[in-house]
Amino acid sequence: MNLDDYRGVWVFIEQNNQKIEGVSLELLGAGRRLADKLMVPLAGFLLGSGVKPLASQVIAYGADEVYMIDHPVLKQYRTESYMKGVMLLAQKYMPEIILYGATPNGKDLASAVATDLVTGLTADTTMLDADLDSRLLEASRPAFGGNIMATILCKKHRPQMATVRPKVMKALEPDSSRLGKIIEENITLQEEDMRTKVLQIVNDVTKKTNLADAHVIVCGGKGMGDIQNFQLIHEFAETIGASVGGTRDVVEAGWLPHEQQIGQTGETVTPKIYFAIGISGAIQHVVGMKNSELIIAINKDPNAPIFDVATYGIVGDALEIVPKLIEQFERLKNEKGGEISYA
Ligand SMILES: Cc1cc2nc3c(=O)[nH]c(=O)nc-3n(C[C@H](O)[C@H](O)[C@H](O)COP(=O)(O)OP(=O)(O)OC[C@H]3O[C@@H](n4cnc5c(N)ncnc54)[C@H](O)[C@@H]3O)c2cc1C
Repeated sequence: MNLDDYRGVWVFIEQNNQKIEGVSLELLGAGRRLADKLMVPLAGFLLGSGVKPLASQVIAYGADEVYMIDHPVLKQYRTESYMKGVMLLAQKYMPEIILYGATPNGKDLASAVATDLVTGLTADTTMLDADLDSRLLEASRPAFGGNIMATILCKKHRPQMATVRPKVMKALEPDSSRLGKIIEENITLQEEDMRTKVLQIVNDVTKKTNLADAHVIVCGGKGMGDIQNFQLIHEFAETIGASVGGTRDVVEAGWLPHEQQIGQTGETVTPKIYFAIGISGAIQHVVGMKNSELIIAINKDPNAPIFDVATYGIVGDALEIVPKLIEQFERLKNEKGGEISYA
């Protein structure tokens, strides 16, 4: 393998029903930085059926080029058909870096492609950088139970690939005046040859909270003491119109369901305001919330690591402070006619 034959940064543009997933737009932002650093074009690649109108959006969010395969068999995601499409594009155009969103489909596709292209894949990356001299992608993620951050390099194989979770990177402001090149490829796919058929798509209606899109989150930790005290977290969240999250220890204690866990093995969130109450600030928690715009931490231990990432810190007993906050916000709400606005 001649590594110098590979050039360009590519982002998998995941779409569902002709709507681009937010993580793909975020990755175009991250990919733009990498491509500029490596002085190569940034491309988005798009597979599906009836997806041509999406190309201009991909360019507006930072791509110089869009590679596209539009075929009826690609209407719904399936490993086999999508992998064939990606293999065709990757072997023909030989990008040096490919980024995928760490969504269920993105993870599935990236691992299948990595196997067939015999290359490496760094999963659930939280930081991306590149080195111009070596042209290596530096993909960092928590390792060894989250005790260290490991930067993983793929020195001998191409393309270098990584998956990144939603909300970890920031999308650029779209610029509809940007110009780019659209390259369409044809693929031969027959529905009869597919080993899997999509019979029905059933939306998960059990998921009650969508923390990833919440503007304000009140997150409680084990420091709340017990499930009764944890009610203060729900009460405070209700008062200020916030969503409730918890640490893994809280979920393991049965105080909240897993879907409300924030962190490495839970949700990644980027709200405007994040209250971290009775939370120590373990790295596995912090990787899931550190990109919040404003972090307010309450902890009785002044040396708790959560204060290292907090914008404002309150040292004290949450069981005394949270009721006072509820009281103050209720008073404020009454003064403002019943609503708190975060605009
Ligand atoms: C592979 C792996 C994956 C993990 N994934 C996740 C994940 O996704 N999310 C996650 O959160 N964790 C995760 N963890 C667990 C993580 O390492 C920590 O154990 C966990 O985040 C700690 O939760 P905590 O902060 O609620 O509890 P603790 O670490 O016990 O902290 C409680 C804090 O509350 C403070 N406190 C106590 N009483 C009060 C009071 N009355 N008022 C104010 N403060 C008080 C204490 O000073 C302390 O700082 C993972 C661990 C591993 C190994």
